[in-house]
Order: sequence, then structure tokens, then C-alpha cells
Amino acid sequence: MPNFDFLSRVVRARLARQAKSCPNCGYCEGALVGRKNLLLQLRCCGRCGLMFRWPKDTGAFAQSFYQSDYSQGMTTEMPDSAALEKLASLNFRGTEKDLSEKIELLKVLCPSGKVLDFGASWGYGTLQLRQAGYDAYGFEISRPRAQFGRRELGVNIYTHQRELENHHGTFDVVFASHVLEHLPVLAGVVELLRSMLAPRGALLIFVPNCGGSNARRHGVYWGPMCCEKHPLAFDAEFFRRSLPDRGFRVAVFSDPYDSQKIALSVHTSTAETRIDGDELMVWAQVDPSLHRPRSELVNGVERAVDPGKSDH
Ligand SMILES: [Zn+2]
Repeated sequence: MPNFDFLSRVVRARLARQAKSCPNCGYCEGALVGRKNLLLQLRCCGRCGLMFRWPKDTGAFAQSFYQSDYSQGMTTEMPDSAALEKLASLNFRGTEKDLSEKIELLKVLCPSGKVLDFGASWGYGTLQLRQAGYDAYGFEISRPRAQFGRRELGVNIYTHQRELENHHGTFDVVFASHVLEHLPVLAGVVELLRSMLAPRGALLIFVPNCGGSNARRHGVYWGPMCCEKHPLAFDAEFFRRSLPDRGFRVAVFSDPYDSQKIALSVHTSTAETRIDGDELMVWAQVDPSLHRPRSELVNGVERAVDPGKSDH
């Protein structure tokens, strides 16, 4: 059941007739995918195909929510010293913070290099990436979580975009594991991540698969699909449709993962296997030969982009 704060935000947003515009492209026409618990809707943008919860959260709300030590779940998410010692002694193996399977997939696609752990939380992923041999940095908007990681794990975690400026164009991979579905607004995020990448860099994204067989079977009542913590819902089609316009060559997979098949599919650009699992994996590599969009939305209105305008 939703908690009371969330419920009251939803009711207030509905009373204020919150706009149903897309939190990615701003387009105002969309389709209702499903209704949940009378108050929530899952909607799909008619232009970019992103699915999102309505009522939406605002960027300002999320920013303040993540700065509080006392937000729901925040303090319990960070381990005390005994729990941390245990996690470290296991190198996180077999715990819910174990990213070894995802890092093994990364090893197959990019065996070494500089990695940005985007949405690093308290740094457990940044640390595991570093221990796997990567030059790893974290980015996390929650200052309490980032401070915890810097202090307790000794990892580099930035909390503000301006701190990333010195690293523009230098990362071989931006790793974002179960982060994008938590963002209230997606507009500008892909552009930010692309700006961090080296000329042949890649995004490695993991999100709940809202086009998978469980999502299709249970609809909006599939746990991760339309809830307080997940304002956005992704399927493979969204990434295939939106990332090439931003200069990425895209390959999408879902669990259970077969790293050899994935490597073969990425390196030979062959069709992917069935994408029916509960988790979606996206490997999106910068490809300078792909063109950028010929049109863009300005205040919700589609306009042609001046072909003489520089992309970068
Ligand atoms: Zn959209």
C-alpha cells in the first residue's frame, strides 16, 4: 500500500490537474496504459514512447527528498559498521548489493577502462567496479549517501554535475544499474550521460523490464511497474527508438543473461534474443555515423532542427 505522504502528494497533484506531459520529451498527447489503486495511471508518451506514472513527481521534490537523512528508507539503506564489515568481508557476494553478474557482463563488453557509476547510492557498486579493475567514479544526487561512500568505502562519489565537468568525454562506460526508473524527469539525462562518454564510449543500463512477460501478464500491478519509487517504466522499444537519435547504436537484452551470446550479438550487430525477463539490459555505444534528430520539441511543439546547427 502507498504511504500517506505519497498518497497526499498524489491527491494534491490530481486536484491541481497536473499536466500529463511526457517527463522525457514534453509531448502532451499520450495514451493511458492502465489504472492502479484508483489514483495512479501509467501513461505512454505518443511521441517518444516512454511510459510514466501520473501523477508525476517534480524534479524539485526528488532533489529535496534525496537530501534528507530521514526520508523513508534512507537511514535503513545505509549499513551500520557491523553490517558493512560483513558486506566487505564477503566482497558483497551473495548479498542484495552484489553486482558481480552485471560487472561480469561489463567485463565481456569492455574489459578495462574508466567507468562512471551513475546513481551510485552509498558507493557499493563503485567499490565493486574498482575491485574489478576499473578506474571507477560514482555520481549520486543524495549527499548523505555519497558522504557515506566517501567516508566508509573510500570511493570517489560526486554529487553535483559541475564536479563532473573535468571528466567530460573521458568515460569508457557509464554504468546505471536500477537508477533510471527512479528519476522523476528523464529530459536531458541521456544527453548528460552521452557528454560524459569518450568518443567510442557506451552506456550500460539495467532497469525493470516493463515489456517482459511478467509485466505483460500483470500490467500495472506488476510490482516495479507503476509505484511510488518508480515514476518511469521502460521497455526495449523505448531504448531502440530514442537512443539512435542521440547517436547510439543500441543492443537490448534481458535476464537470464548469456554473456557469450551478448558479446557476439554486440560485436556482430545481430538480432537480440527474446526480451521477456524481469530485467532489461541496454548496451548503447556511441556511433558517430548515426545522425542526430531532425526535429525537436520546444515547449511541447515539434520544430525542425536547423540542419546547419552544430550537434556538439
Ligand atoms: Zn515523450
